Amino acid sequence: MTVNINKQNIDLSGRLVVLGGGESGTGAAILGKAIGMDVFLSDMGKIAQKYKDLLSSHGILFEEGGHSEEKILNATVVVKSPGIPPYAPMVEKIAAKGIPVLSEIEFAAGFTDSRMVCITGSNGKTTTTLLTYHILKEAGLDVGLAGNVGNSLALQVAEDPHEIYVIELSSFQLENMYQFKANIAVIMNITPDHLDRYDHKMENYVAAKFRILQNQTKDDYFVYWQDDPIIREQIAHVQSEAMRLPFGTERHEGSASWVEDGIIHFSTPEDVWEIPREKLSLPGLHNLYNSMAAGISASVLNIKKENIRHALEDFEAVEHRLEYVATVDGVRYVNDSKATNVNSTWYALESMDTPTVLILGGKDKGNDYSEIEELVKKKVKAIVCMGLHNEKLLDFFKGKVAEIVDTSSLSEAVAQCRRLASEGDTVLLSPCCASFDLFKSYEDRGEQFKAAVKAMSRS
Ligand code: ADP
Repeated sequence: MTVNINKQNIDLSGRLVVLGGGESGTGAAILGKAIGMDVFLSDMGKIAQKYKDLLSSHGILFEEGGHSEEKILNATVVVKSPGIPPYAPMVEKIAAKGIPVLSEIEFAAGFTDSRMVCITGSNGKTTTTLLTYHILKEAGLDVGLAGNVGNSLALQVAEDPHEIYVIELSSFQLENMYQFKANIAVIMNITPDHLDRYDHKMENYVAAKFRILQNQTKDDYFVYWQDDPIIREQIAHVQSEAMRLPFGTERHEGSASWVEDGIIHFSTPEDVWEIPREKLSLPGLHNLYNSMAAGISASVLNIKKENIRHALEDFEAVEHRLEYVATVDGVRYVNDSKATNVNSTWYALESMDTPTVLILGGKDKGNDYSEIEELVKKKVKAIVCMGLHNEKLLDFFKGKVAEIVDTSSLSEAVAQCRRLASEGDTVLLSPCCASFDLFKSYEDRGEQFKAAVKAMSRS
């Protein structure tokens, strides 16, 4: 079997080298083995034990803690984990030898005819992916969850195939996708993020996101937020036959979903239906958009409107995304640790309907805090900075809120929140920043926050 990439036919009975031994790399290696390729996996860092066990049980050779050039540069094709940048030295050497480099999704898609619902965007990918999956699953479809969430697509294609997949795609994955076709492509929004990986050029990041549309035909669908200025601008330059299904709060010509008098309307070629906004299980404007995107996708897959409505109503919040933790002394504590950029914190604040004590801080990725200034002035009674370097936050917000305090640990921050919040308030962890100064990951930050709040509620 061959796969055609950028007009080259690549022989898939040759040698597959996988760079990166995480979920996607291990899955790709297992699929490669299953189709009879000579497979080798190499990771610069350590490989988690569960992946080592999986590789060994499939008889796949691997190395960790470095790359052996001679075992890599003889590859017919390389599958690269999305976390490895194109400018990593080994990737440059592979490219210099003319060896094609694919993403795991591209590779896996070559071995299945299942339908693909693919979701990308700067924010809201995971929520929309899980929500869409939830609707399809509840409707009884044979559906798999893949991409940044769930098991790798490759592993599922090899060992647990489904008729349809809902896939969260990051721009990093899209970079190495060529022949892949999404039956439904969703772009939630595009705001600056990860620009360090894109030469600090927004147009490169936008172009990577728009790769989700490549190869779509008139039988496919393109779902997007109609009010996003960057998407709108880019669409004007894109040639795609896919049917456009935009959504937003206002109804425009061709809108597939909009709100009128508190009712969310859906209108796709397959069905026309509505649901009261207050019935959505997920709160906030951003989750309205996420629900619209998921609802449209489900609708074009011919899922009954009763089923979609029901699933939108009973979906449970995703961990670390505006997740309610507990109420202590009449104060609600909300964990939005996943808000690692200014835009996501904007939406978290937008959804607040009580005075808010906001925990901000961490590793600043070049944030422009003026984007949330107005909402902070309107809704935030105090800011608790939590990070190793809070100077930028302190400088920016001083004088703009009644109180701002400087802390450098989670326990200190939570204690300050308890002091500053009164009955009826919300304490919101929505830090605008990456977590790596004080925590291992945003999950770790969220877990620690929840544990501290729960300990407080018991004391
Ligand atoms: P991603 O997978 O793209 O990082 P998530 O669904 O994990 O997105 O949400 C990350 C954060 O972004 C959440 O904490 C939430 O505050 C915010 N968010 C979620 N959906 C949207 C959206 N549609 N637009 C803007 N911000 C959003």
